[in-house]
Amino acid sequence: MEPMPEIRTESISKTFPDGTQALRSVSLQVKNGELLALVGPSGCGKTTLLRIISGLESPSEGHLFFDKEKVTQLSPERRDLGMVFQNYALFPHLSIFRNIGLGLGNSPLSKAEKKQTVEQVAKNLGLYEYLERKPAELSGGQRQRVALARLLVRNPSIHLLDEPLSNLDANLRMKMREELANLHIKHAKTTIFVTHDQIEAMTLGQRICLLNHGKIEQIGTPEELYLNPCNLFVAIFFGIPPINILQGKSHYSDAEGSGIFRCQESSLSLKTLISHKKDHKNLTLGIRPENIKIMAGDANGEFLIKRIEYLGDSQIVHLSFENINLTCKQPISGLRSGERVALAIDWKSSLWFDSNTKNRVQLIES
Ligand code: ADP
Ligand code: MG
Repeated sequence: MEPMPEIRTESISKTFPDGTQALRSVSLQVKNGELLALVGPSGCGKTTLLRIISGLESPSEGHLFFDKEKVTQLSPERRDLGMVFQNYALFPHLSIFRNIGLGLGNSPLSKAEKKQTVEQVAKNLGLYEYLERKPAELSGGQRQRVALARLLVRNPSIHLLDEPLSNLDANLRMKMREELANLHIKHAKTTIFVTHDQIEAMTLGQRICLLNHGKIEQIGTPEELYLNPCNLFVAIFFGIPPINILQGKSHYSDAEGSGIFRCQESSLSLKTLISHKKDHKNLTLGIRPENIKIMAGDANGEFLIKRIEYLGDSQIVHLSFENINLTCKQPISGLRSGERVALAIDWKSSLWFDSNTKNRVQLIES
């Protein structure tokens, strides 16, 4: 397979004429043939970054490279890339055949060759029988495929996909996710997939870049971001239900090689079962729901089960103690709401943050 280009941005910033700072010194690399998921809340700058990479927008500062070539000034037509827009950007008065054919632009192919290319891609995407229809006569999923087909006919070496699945319903989204993953396995194009959905980012991205307010929070594999977030924002962004967060302070105690975490605004104190280096006054503790075990039948249990959500293969248990609420994910059990229970926390996987800076801190003696 021919090698695909690597994409590299070097300290790219973008300030719009109205003063909006959409990107702040974004430096990232998409390796050749890699699928990078670019994820972040609405308005964080994802589309702006994609438009800068495609050449539709120019950066206020910084540079863009495809492999070693600096392409910051190169016009969009000369960048050998294809983009799928969030709203598909189909032409309502043109047939599906012509909408897809637009992807070929002013390619040197003969008319017959163009027709053959469009028909082949349409066949691969299950659109062949709709070629004479207009976009309004297709379902959302089919329109999404037309936008993808328009990109594929040109066979560009870079794919830029801007929230291609966000207009589809849940079931179709899952199916299209599968198709996009297969497409990437088959063609291994260098791909940036934009989404605001943590599940899409996790399941599709070989690596994930999490953007927030125009800045990169963290780049890494899905596992790295989930298990080893570098700050509180990353920890909270990924995970369903979200990570449990407690504010408080920890007391160093080496008698039993264990510390005490005292929660703020509640009398809850937890024995952390890991040795601390020192006291910390301003700590945020993060515990993922799957790292809390419920010890049923403990008469001294401090936590009240408020509600249990049944998920078929597992359950989410909502617990409370004074004004503290925790969620826990566990196998189906005979627990009932109203019961009092004790908890066992897997302290080895607990995450600690400085409450002021929100950055990760290491409590455990290494
Ligand atoms: P996302 O795709 O992550 O939702 P965008 O890249 O579209 O975010 O937008 C990032 C920020 O830049 C937002 O605050 C948005 O309102 C602003 N923005 C986008 N395009 C323009 C523009 N042409 N002029 C001014 N502000 C813009
Ligand atoms: Mg966008």
